[in-house]
Amino acid sequence: MSVWIEVDLCNGCKRCAKACPYGAVEMKNGKARILERCTSCGACVEACKEKAIQTDVEPKAIPDFSDRKGVWVFAEQREGKLIPVSLELLGKAQELAGLLNQSVSALLLGSKVAKLSDVLINYGADNVYVAEHANLKDYRTNAYTKVIRELINEYNPNILLMGATHIGRDLAPRVSRRVGVGLTADCTELTIDPDEVILLQTRPAFGGNVMATIANRFSRPQMATVRPGVMEALKKTGNRGKVIKHKVSLTQKEIGTKVLEIVKEKKKHIDLSQAKVIVAGGRGVGDAGGFKVLKKLAALMGGEVAGTRVAVEEGWIPVEHQIGQTGQSVRPELYIACGISGAIQHRAGMMNSRYIIAINRDPRAPIFQVADWGIVADLHDVVPEMIGQLKKDQGK
Ligand SMILES: Cc1cc2nc3c(=O)[nH]c(=O)nc-3n(C[C@H](O)[C@H](O)[C@H](O)COP(=O)(O)OP(=O)(O)OC[C@H]3O[C@@H](n4cnc5c(N)ncnc54)[C@H](O)[C@@H]3O)c2cc1C
Repeated sequence: MSVWIEVDLCNGCKRCAKACPYGAVEMKNGKARILERCTSCGACVEACKEKAIQTDVEPKAIPDFSDRKGVWVFAEQREGKLIPVSLELLGKAQELAGLLNQSVSALLLGSKVAKLSDVLINYGADNVYVAEHANLKDYRTNAYTKVIRELINEYNPNILLMGATHIGRDLAPRVSRRVGVGLTADCTELTIDPDEVILLQTRPAFGGNVMATIANRFSRPQMATVRPGVMEALKKTGNRGKVIKHKVSLTQKEIGTKVLEIVKEKKKHIDLSQAKVIVAGGRGVGDAGGFKVLKKLAALMGGEVAGTRVAVEEGWIPVEHQIGQTGQSVRPELYIACGISGAIQHRAGMMNSRYIIAINRDPRAPIFQVADWGIVADLHDVVPEMIGQLKKDQGK
């Protein structure tokens, strides 16, 4: 199998060299030349308008997926309580299903959890697949993987979304491997390509310096995980849904592990994803004392305080309060960014906020590109002024 150039037809336009993802086309004396590292991927063949590049490689056929229908969400519950990301994903699933003209389904696994079906239906599920078994009470990788694989094989979904929680990060790769499909982890945006009608999965790549969009043409279901707080939960009151019970057979031998004890983390988990107002600080805040002032502002607005990775590394704020690619993702009504430059890794965690106010001395700071209101000033002047005004308004 190979790729070759019809030299007489080549006009030296370099389109093939630009299209080659492997740098396997070079230009020599105004003509393209294929190098040894060519993988016969065919990108140059498609790019060449002169038909000067020939190949004997058969293009990979896209299978017929017309029987693959429905947008599924893994409805993660712990101790019988749904965790917010499950409902957030149902919100996104409604949007995707609308574009595909397909239905939304939730997968509910556990023991005595069927009562949660109403909540899932209320939040947009048209179907709830309920798998109940004593061996599903506490999450165990093999048990959950087996049941989800069975459901996928039986009902052929088109898309499967999971929260990028501790459980989702463990479960999603296992399921994807078992059913032989790819998985895009930690997506920040999901939409449908209107031409190919496939899921476009966007996530930060190369250390967060670029946003990559990934599409899966060759296998189903299309699987993605999304971090908590990235998508918005949409209630669908009055929605009517179907509950479909899945018969589970699970032996201890198949599972291979036993839960001996559940040790809960002592440290308080700060869930900023549900905060309505966040006052966040970066290097510009200067020290831990500066964060005390931000805390006062947050308290007056009924909000939470947060920070950039720099602020965390400086020890000005605990790591649980970090926002961004390696911190939490949030979407409050109001995000006040104080002394934050707006690096892409930070923006990845806060750009879905409803309104953003940025306070920065540097008018060229990238944070102003995503801000609704920008204040070019020293935060040490602006924040105390805001506190004073709020106190006056609140009669304090
Ligand atoms: C793989 C990877 C993952 C990462 N993950 C994250 C993440 O999850 N979250 C995150 O935040 N970062 C993350 N980063 C780091 C990120 O690239 C940036 O370095 C970081 O966000 C910058 O933080 P900052 O805005 O506080 O600091 P800086 O970029 O130094 O910006 C400080 C800003 O404060 C302004 N300023 C200074 N003094 C004042 C003042 N008195 N008044 C007003 N403005 C002032 C300055 O003009 C400047 O714009 C990650 C990086 C990598 C490589």
